[in-house]
Amino acid sequence: MALRRVFIVDTTLRDGEQTAGVVFSRQEKLRIAMLLDEAGVDEIEVGTPAMGSVEVDAIRDIVAARPRARTMAWNRAVIADIQKSIECGVDAVAISIPVSDIHISKKLRSSRERVLEQMAAACTYAKQQGVYVSVNGEDSSRADLDFLAEFVRVARECGADRFRFCDTVGVMEPFGTYRVIEYLIRSSPGLSVEMHMHDDFGMATANAIAGVEAGATHIGVTVNGLGERAGNSALEEVVMALKHMGKGSTSVRTESLRPLAEYVARASSRPIPAGKAIVGDNIFAHESGIHVDGALKDPKTYEAFAPSEVGGKRKIYVGKHSGSAAIRAKMETMGVHLSDAQCDKLLDKVRHVSVDLKRALSDSELMWLYSEMEGTSLPRSGQR
Ligand SMILES: [Zn+2]
Repeated sequence: MALRRVFIVDTTLRDGEQTAGVVFSRQEKLRIAMLLDEAGVDEIEVGTPAMGSVEVDAIRDIVAARPRARTMAWNRAVIADIQKSIECGVDAVAISIPVSDIHISKKLRSSRERVLEQMAAACTYAKQQGVYVSVNGEDSSRADLDFLAEFVRVARECGADRFRFCDTVGVMEPFGTYRVIEYLIRSSPGLSVEMHMHDDFGMATANAIAGVEAGATHIGVTVNGLGERAGNSALEEVVMALKHMGKGSTSVRTESLRPLAEYVARASSRPIPAGKAIVGDNIFAHESGIHVDGALKDPKTYEAFAPSEVGGKRKIYVGKHSGSAAIRAKMETMGVHLSDAQCDKLLDKVRHVSVDLKRALSDSELMWLYSEMEGTSLPRSGQR
């Protein structure tokens, strides 16, 4: 059976840039938008026009580049903000308003009734301007569920095309997420729901997938999981989990995931952690003897998917945990064929040196050890 199509909404340029300490230049914003478009995401949340002229200029650049993906600008439920977005020429607007009592009373100093009125007025205005509208329930996860269902019904009556369920403080878990999304869709049949989950307990991707299982149609993501506090569901994790766990299909070209992650890591000055799911350096690195032996015989023994599928490369490390298969294979790549005795001796040296240095060894360090062991001289630098 064909997998259900799940739409990917990337918000690296909006929520991602809201990460404390992260700022993208105008050129970087355009570049990231173009890379996302080439990667095949369905929608790009380009920024918040109400922030002023710097943001507006960057958004206009992106709109002028005419990406294939739908462009969306983020707004409070304020008509003047929405006007600014429409003037930027975007295809869609996100209209956000708090829905939990703590946000409504403490932050907005408002009431549930006034929230419904304000959202309805903003949504009606935006639809009159002919743009696609996503109504965002800020702090949906802590909202009263009956009020949330009412909020969704009113939004749809005003013409909203989609409801964005925001786990603003990242407090959900997959089972509870499934129940809430199923309930909302049951009370508003045919509703398009976007999962916008935060990673405060490390469950943003799992929660987004749980939402899709319950019938959500869209997932909001950021490259490398950038975003407020612990960040959002990561683009690379969501796309690969949907695909490999049989939960849905997307239009994202997975080979672009690692190059995209590298670019955004540089632009955000947030290096990709070595163990980061899908795009981290260590995802395809093998060192322990048993793993390397298996991976060399058939990579599927210790890899969930091939590195090339996400634009990455397999790496074999040699170090304390290495076995002879790794040493032999590494030396072969450098043109040296080892006898069994040489291999054993070199492996012993590698283990000792690796413990002293407290890390794996580079190819050249391995070569030095070999040369030292054989009593041969090393190639001088420049003679390589
Ligand atoms: Zn968010």
